[in-house]
Amino acid sequence: MAKYIFVTGGVTSSLGKGIIAASLAKLLQARGLRVTIQKLDPYINVDPGTLNPYEHGECFVTEDGAETDLDLGHYERFLNIFTSQANNVTTGKIYQTVINKEREGAYLGKTVQVIPHITDEIKRRMLLLGQQNEFDIIISEIGGTVGDIESLPYIEAIRQLQWELPDEDLLVVHLTLIPYLKAARELKTKPTQHSVKMLSESGVFPDVIVCRTEEPLNQEIKRKIALFCNVKAEAVIEAPDASTIYEVPLLMMNEKLDLIVLKKLNITEFSEPDLSRWKEFLDKLKYPKARINIGLIGKYVELQDAYKSILESFVHAGAVNECKVQVIPIHSEFITPENVSDKLKNLDGLLVAPGFGYRGIEGKITAVKFARESGLPFFGICLGMQMAVIEYGRNVLGITNAQSTETDPETSEPVIDMMEEQKKITAKGGTMRLGSYPCNIKPGTVAFKIYGSPVINERHRHRYEFNNRYLQQFESGGMTASGLNPETGLVEIMEIEAHPFFVGCQFHPELKSSVENPHPLFIHFVAAAKAHNEKKQATPNPLLQSEMT
Ligand code: GLN
Repeated sequence: MAKYIFVTGGVTSSLGKGIIAASLAKLLQARGLRVTIQKLDPYINVDPGTLNPYEHGECFVTEDGAETDLDLGHYERFLNIFTSQANNVTTGKIYQTVINKEREGAYLGKTVQVIPHITDEIKRRMLLLGQQNEFDIIISEIGGTVGDIESLPYIEAIRQLQWELPDEDLLVVHLTLIPYLKAARELKTKPTQHSVKMLSESGVFPDVIVCRTEEPLNQEIKRKIALFCNVKAEAVIEAPDASTIYEVPLLMMNEKLDLIVLKKLNITEFSEPDLSRWKEFLDKLKYPKARINIGLIGKYVELQDAYKSILESFVHAGAVNECKVQVIPIHSEFITPENVSDKLKNLDGLLVAPGFGYRGIEGKITAVKFARESGLPFFGICLGMQMAVIEYGRNVLGITNAQSTETDPETSEPVIDMMEEQKKITAKGGTMRLGSYPCNIKPGTVAFKIYGSPVINERHRHRYEFNNRYLQQFESGGMTASGLNPETGLVEIMEIEAHPFFVGCQFHPELKSSVENPHPLFIHFVAAAKAHNEKKQATPNPLLQSEMT
């Protein structure tokens, strides 16, 4: 039988529930337990696939093609496991299931209500992952903040489970904020007391309180929180700000969060935590030997969360290369042929990000041209690869009107075109080419050197593809399709061999990079950028030279 941990949040949003949940999961995993995490999101969208990145940040795609909350990315990066369709539940999905059942007549003439029908479906989803004997522990992170109207049915479902499951099979962690009032030089526990009170009024009694704080909590404060929030003092956990999210598991271990959880869940068989690879990674991350600047060209650059997995992949790949990767966001809409050199000249590498629609397209193409011509390492992901194809078509192969039909459906030179099976689809939710597909890698190519394998599997999220009508023209002109889908011949990787590093991929490698398994494409791109930087340092700047003489 699996055991269940619920993580709720209080006082304010953005406290890092996902990171705390992932850190606890990591510690339990390091002690030899089989752990997974799921996210329960109280919004009514069926999934975040149709949401603008400005709303909830990046949409994370799982192996089985679910479009999910970006917290699943944290779970995978921390735990080095794959999540699935079942790991992200939304209110939209819950209602969809209940309403479909009602239409089928499954409720036998009863009035369908939030309690018990919606809460029953929530409970079914909460317990689902624990039913196949695949996991010892299922952690469920409840999105939103306690007190939100939207999350009430989820809290109610936990309340019911508290009575339905044996005491030792369920645990509630409440994450809260202890604000520090500078003027009074005091940490304040009142918001936490209120938030726990609100939770208790709904019949849910937290076993552990994790306190986000900018200042250390002393014993007295811990005792006070314990007293007012009805938990043992040892179950009041301090979660200070960390220099990197990857340090949080160790901070939680210092606070004995894992041991407190194991005790309450009455788990007696566990090992000493093995975090050797994790610590090795952290060491490299904290003490880099070099620094490089990578430009990230996108149109959602104001919002870091929009490119979460890419940023984290750079953290992993930077550690492997023992260098700090400074990612510099550059808005594609503001790049022009006149300013491109100024904007990009100090970079060591350029990444053109995934995206949709036509806004900022020309800026991306201009940036690719600069990277290709100046020998700046280039990495294009999904839309980024498509832009590289258009740029090469226009400026090297002389296909002046090269374009994507996403930007101009009537273009005379559709080097990027909508995939055939997409042409009949009109609905937007979950209808792209999603999830993991195999890809054959051509021997002798850069991609082959990077992957060291003739077949790979990567995750996708797109509607458009390289138009194979142009394949021969591109290949004879110096841009090679080094990765192809074995069944359809869909181009998955495009590269220019005669360049220090120029690779574009139709898939999303950033979705598969984890701390313990950094992605090879990111590792090699960072290595190329590092080499570019070293070369720059070794070559005296002619401008400086002339000034000196
Ligand atoms: N908009 C492009 C497509 O649908 C690229 C998608 C992406 O970058 N994820 O093919």
